[in-house]
Amino acid sequence: MTSGKPIVLGVLALQGAFREHIAYFNCILDSNPDEYSNFDISIIEVKTKEQLEKCDSLVIPGGESSSISYISERTQLLPHLYDFIANEQKKTWGTCAGLIFLSKEIQNGIENQKCLGGLNIQVNRNAFGRQLNSFEIDLDFSKFIKGCDKFPTVFIRAPVVTKILDGNCNAVEKGIIKSENTYHNSAPTEILYELKNYNNSNNDLIVAVKQGHILGTSFHPELSDNYSFHKWFLDDFVLKSCK
Ligand code: GLN
Repeated sequence: MTSGKPIVLGVLALQGAFREHIAYFNCILDSNPDEYSNFDISIIEVKTKEQLEKCDSLVIPGGESSSISYISERTQLLPHLYDFIANEQKKTWGTCAGLIFLSKEIQNGIENQKCLGGLNIQVNRNAFGRQLNSFEIDLDFSKFIKGCDKFPTVFIRAPVVTKILDGNCNAVEKGIIKSENTYHNSAPTEILYELKNYNNSNNDLIVAVKQGHILGTSFHPELSDNYSFHKWFLDDFVLKSCK
């Protein structure tokens, strides 16, 4: 029986790799019981408004952003997700499709696909091409995650952040889906990682960003064999503000 501060970490479970995220967080808690003894942390699947209301934090998994969007509309969760990400007390992280869903603008989106507008970014969906162009690469995240200098990242039909947007730009642009959420995140958008020289390209590709209470990564840390990224999110995002 734990008596620590209750924290509920939700994983959006409409579609995609939500079970993997839940397994990673559970593994962190099981492997480091003493470290988290001041908290009573539960990891829950989120499919409904009632489950979302319990959450202090939310992870939006990889999968297919258009499916996540359609299912959230069909189940009427979408307006509650708009409110959730607008609440700066609620720490949110999107991986791959989750990053696309959290963005303000989508390039190469599917008709009627919605985005939550929590991150002031434009993303190019499937920027690396098709499933066949998926790849794995070790990246050095030690600038923001201590000791994490060789993290095995997995990119599957991954998006790239193509623009950091300043201000509210609601003008219609051909081929660009814009968020209908009126929330404007006023925190600075920090680029956490740029992929250099990918396929001999001269362009640096932005694949991880943080804007205040929201984090987005193009890759899938939940599909690597290393939980450092999840532990960093739990320790530095979710729990730091609760200590
Ligand atoms: N490109 C996919 C999308 O549009 C995301 C792929 C993924 O999450 N692995 O949602």
